[in-house]
Amino acid sequence: MEIVGFIGLGRMGKSMASNLARNGYSLIVFDILEAPVRELAALGAKPAASLAELAGQCSIIATMLPASKEVEATIFGSDGIAAHAKPGTLLLDMSTVDPETSDKIHEEAAKRGLAAVDAPVGRLAIHADRGECLFMVGATPANLERVMPLLKAMGTTIHHCGTGGAGMRMKLVNNYLAIVLCQLNAEALALSQRFGLDISRTLEVLYGTTATNGQLRVNWPNKVLAGDTTPGFTVDLAHKDLSLIVQSANAARVPVPIAAAAREAFSLARSRGYGQIDFSGMVDVLCDMAQIERPRLPAGWKPPA
Ligand code: NAD
Repeated sequence: MEIVGFIGLGRMGKSMASNLARNGYSLIVFDILEAPVRELAALGAKPAASLAELAGQCSIIATMLPASKEVEATIFGSDGIAAHAKPGTLLLDMSTVDPETSDKIHEEAAKRGLAAVDAPVGRLAIHADRGECLFMVGATPANLERVMPLLKAMGTTIHHCGTGGAGMRMKLVNNYLAIVLCQLNAEALALSQRFGLDISRTLEVLYGTTATNGQLRVNWPNKVLAGDTTPGFTVDLAHKDLSLIVQSANAARVPVPIAAAAREAFSLARSRGYGQIDFSGMVDVLCDMAQIERPRLPAGWKPPA
């Protein structure tokens, strides 16, 4: 069986690594924070003292880090995993990063006798908790086959999107819609509040028309509308993804004016100190600015069937 290194045990990575441990994988873990490393050790994973120590022992090394900067430093830094990985080791990056970073990982891996797969994750943190992630994979068929058992231990749906970098490009397409919809929901519900409409009735109407969307139906009733803005997926990460989307679309000469406007709404939220709340909390940001009450569903509210 493969020996799996897992780097980045945050809101997503901790759950995903835990699911690998529960599925019997030999796991070596690393994070700059001690607490999640201890939690994984309690499930049988072996903590590594350094990236070099981890890289020397593993045949697959998974990364689930915040952004391109951390992924590049971890893989290509002077004491990073590329410098210490054994020939044939597969680098499985599941973070959401710039597609150019993904391309670089694939190119450098090929030069150094390593393998690479980009497999960014769709769906929400609660799905990661339950082992129900969706993966968008960029890889050769042989490398996909090699990581397939791991992806199946962490998720339920695996889409092969193409060769190296295709998974990351698909992820940007997906997050464009998912995050812009979050901003649209925030604006619509702030307006509903200003109009004095009942939030339960507002959702009952929106769920019954083509206005509804996954954020409003799946995420919001359990998060911000229940008064819970613990992340989830932070405003900071959503801002990072919208920035990647605007930058990549501009580089490809595709204008994305709505993404740019939504990105600046997230910039504003961050500048007011909301960076670390769940991205559904964008409605609270707007309500605070408009000085209106935040919408909250009554306890026990159930969506219409
Ligand atoms: P997070 O901030 O909760 O976790 C990141 C983890 O990486 C933290 O534990 C942090 O300590 C660790 N870390 C940071 N720098 C490090 C370094 N140099 N070396 C080792 N560890 C380091 O983020 P998250 O929500 O788990 O998201 C991780 C990635 O997955 C991001 O790219 C995000 O965009 C993407 N994603 C998140 C969600 C979600 O709902 N949260 C869903 C899909 C994809």
